[in-house]
Amino acid sequence: MEKVVIIGSGCAGLTAALYTARANLRPLVLTGRQPGGLLTTTTVVENYPGFPEGIDGYELMVRMQKQAERFGARVQFGTVEGVNLSGQPFSLTVDGEQVQAETIIIASGASHRHLNLESELKLETKGVTYCATCDGALPMFRNQPLVVVGGGDSACEEATYLTRFGSTVYLVHRRNALRASKIMAERTLAHEKIKPVWNSVVTEVLDVKQEKVTGVRLKNVETGSEQVLDAAGVFVAIGHVPNTQIFKGLIHMDEHGYIIPKQGTATNVPGVFVAGDCADRIYRQAVTAAGLGCAAAIDAERFLAARNE
Ligand SMILES: Cc1cc2nc3c(=O)[nH]c(=O)nc-3n(C[C@H](O)[C@H](O)[C@H](O)COP(=O)(O)OP(=O)(O)OC[C@H]3O[C@@H](n4cnc5c(N)ncnc54)[C@H](O)[C@@H]3O)c2cc1C
Repeated sequence: MEKVVIIGSGCAGLTAALYTARANLRPLVLTGRQPGGLLTTTTVVENYPGFPEGIDGYELMVRMQKQAERFGARVQFGTVEGVNLSGQPFSLTVDGEQVQAETIIIASGASHRHLNLESELKLETKGVTYCATCDGALPMFRNQPLVVVGGGDSACEEATYLTRFGSTVYLVHRRNALRASKIMAERTLAHEKIKPVWNSVVTEVLDVKQEKVTGVRLKNVETGSEQVLDAAGVFVAIGHVPNTQIFKGLIHMDEHGYIIPKQGTATNVPGVFVAGDCADRIYRQAVTAAGLGCAAAIDAERFLAARNE
């Protein structure tokens, strides 16, 4: 029987592991298919406090894991396929095996939606990115034309943020009007650096041969005509999908699948806590995920202490 099982090994999960390990709870961390989480897919992280020169995303996550392990956290490769939260102890199905737990911290993150282009995949971290706040300030994007793909609030926010760095920001949207809220759409379209490209989809990110982004090939969905836009970066902002499907119907979530905590990090099921991007559709940063991981660990620790009084 585990005292604490942490689902996910990103910033939220490993911070929760550090805190619960230091509280002598010997947490079991289940890594899922992406050990270290989303940050392992990026090269330099420049906004995680404590690293004035920036740090490689993969290295940061290896360090977080080592730090948690130093105090007794056990990190195990495994994906949770199902949970039974109907009573104590909870049971989890992990790659076909059963694990029982007194408390669970859900830190399963959110995956970004892809354009599903082969060229997009090949140029990820070479100019294709999914987070303007994270990558917009990198030297490769400064004073260069940039492309944002999407038409919702996130796409508008990304485009507006990128005007600080890029020379021109093309906002490529498959419809002829933005889906974003009226005020956000108006503000975005009024910006002199933002140029909308309507009724268009990206069919290829250029240039895989050069191993860096030099532009995008677009297709007009109305006329079928093609054009090429020069750009040094492609920011894909077509939404995120929280990795919470296995909790559907058990844990309260919004219509997009983001978990809604009841109080602090506590969910509607006593003993189940949540941290990080799977419960955060607004900030989605490493440091906020880590902060919530800390909070969930403290909440779990207090829950166990109260139970054993
Ligand atoms: C390209 C890129 C660059 C970024 N750069 C920055 C940056 O510079 N600065 C910054 O602050 N933020 C950055 N971010 C955002 C940052 O990565 C996230 O905010 C952060 O990783 C969220 O942490 P998390 O622990 O909530 O989730 P994640 O890091 O997504 O981790 C989720 C974990 O849950 C696991 N998991 C999922 N489902 C299951 C399951 N069923 N069973 C077991 N485990 C499961 C996954 O394998 C993974 O280990 C970047 C994101 C991307 C994509």
